[in-house]
Amino acid sequence: MLVGAEHDAPYERPHLSKGFLLGTVPRDRLRLRPPDQYRELGVELVLGERVVELRLEDRVVMLEGGGTIAWDRLCVATGSDARRLDGFEHALYLRELPEAETLQGLIESSAGLDVIGAGFIGCEVAAVARQKGCAVRVHEALQQPLLRVLGPELGDYLAGVHRAHGVDLRVNVKSLPNMAEHVLVAVGSEPRTILAQEAGLPVDGGIVVDERGRTPVEGVFAAGDATRFWHPLLQTRIRVEHFQTAQRQGFVVGRAMAGMAEPYREVPWFWSDQYDLNLQYVGAGLTWDETITRGDFGKPPFTVFYRQGGRLVGAAGINDHHTVARVRRVMEARAPVTAPQLEDPGFDLRSALA
Ligand SMILES: Cc1cc2nc3c(=O)[nH]c(=O)nc-3n(C[C@H](O)[C@H](O)[C@H](O)COP(=O)(O)OP(=O)(O)OC[C@H]3O[C@@H](n4cnc5c(N)ncnc54)[C@H](O)[C@@H]3O)c2cc1C
Repeated sequence: MLVGAEHDAPYERPHLSKGFLLGTVPRDRLRLRPPDQYRELGVELVLGERVVELRLEDRVVMLEGGGTIAWDRLCVATGSDARRLDGFEHALYLRELPEAETLQGLIESSAGLDVIGAGFIGCEVAAVARQKGCAVRVHEALQQPLLRVLGPELGDYLAGVHRAHGVDLRVNVKSLPNMAEHVLVAVGSEPRTILAQEAGLPVDGGIVVDERGRTPVEGVFAAGDATRFWHPLLQTRIRVEHFQTAQRQGFVVGRAMAGMAEPYREVPWFWSDQYDLNLQYVGAGLTWDETITRGDFGKPPFTVFYRQGGRLVGAAGINDHHTVARVRRVMEARAPVTAPQLEDPGFDLRSALA
C-alpha cells in the first residue's frame, strides 16, 4: 500500500522546473508508471491522504481523515519540502505539480519574475523563463550560483551563461529589494522528518538509516530524500536530494523490506538542464581542495574533477555525459587515476578500471 498526501499519482518531479515548465513535457509524460501498472504490480495507491502519526508500537499509521492503516513493515519516504523564507510565506515555492502549473501560467503571462536563490531549481526556472521571453531577476546571497556544490570556477561560468541569456543575476545579496509582483523562492529543500521525529526515530538532518534503509526499530525503514543513510563506499552518512539516488536507494530499501540483503553503494549522480547545457554531477558534494579540468574550460564539452587530498570525490561535466558516466565507474571501483590521466581527454577513463 502506497499512501501519499498528493492527489496526483507518483510523477517525476525533475520535469517541473524544466520540460514541463517549458511546455515540451506534457502532464501525462510526468507520471512514473501508467495507472494500471500499480494494480498489476499489486500496489494499492492511496492518494490525497496525509499520514499524521506513525504508531510504531501499535504498528498502525494514523491518517488525517481519521482512518488507520495497519502495517507489518513500514517505509517512511516523506521526501523533502522547499525551505521557507521568513517574510515570503505567500511567495511561490516549487515542489509539487500544482505549484509548477501556477508558475507555468505566470511565466507565460507575466512581464517579470523575481527568483530568490540561484541553486539548481532557481537557475532552471530562470533559464525556462528567459526561453519564454519573461524578464527575470535572480537574487543570490553567495558570490556565485551553485557555489557550494560546484565551486567558484563553474559558478562563475554559469553566472556568465545566465547573464548572456538576459538574466539580471544579482549575487552577494544581503537584503532583498522591492520585488516584482511574482516571486519564486528557491532557497533549497529540507527533509520532511517530522513524522519520524515524533515517532522517536533517530533524526539528524534526515531520518538516520543504514545502507539498507533500516532504522533501529525492527520492520521500520526509510528511503529517499528524507533519509541520511550510511554509504559504505564513502564511509560516511550522506543525505542526497536527487532523483536517481531516491530511486535506486529506494529499490534497495524495497528489497531489504522483502528480506533481500544487498546494501546501497552507488555514488550519487544527478543532472540539471539550463538552456542548451546539460550539467551532470557525480559525487556526494563532499569538500575538495583541488580541481582538475578535462577539456577547454568554458567551452562545452568539458568536465571539472574535484579531489581531496589527492582522492577523487566528485566530477561535474557540461555537455560531457560520457566522461561523467565513466568517472562514476572509476569512483565506484575506487580505481586509482592520476591527475594527468584525468586532465587528458585522450585517456579513456574506462582503462583505469582494468
Ligand atoms: C522542481 C524540482 C526539480 C528537480 N530536479 C532534479 C533534477 O534535475 N535532478 C535530480 O536528480 N533531482 C531533481 N529533483 C529532486 C528529486 O525530484 C527528488 O530527489 C525526488 O523527488 C525525491 O524523491 P522522494 O520519493 O524521496 O521524495 P518526494 O519526491 O519529495 O516524495 C515524497 C512524497 O511523500 C509525500 N508525503 C510527505 N509527507 C507525507 C505525509 N505525512 N503523509 C502522506 N504523504 C506524505 C509527499 O506529498 C510526496 O508526494 C528536483 C526536485 C524538484 C522539486
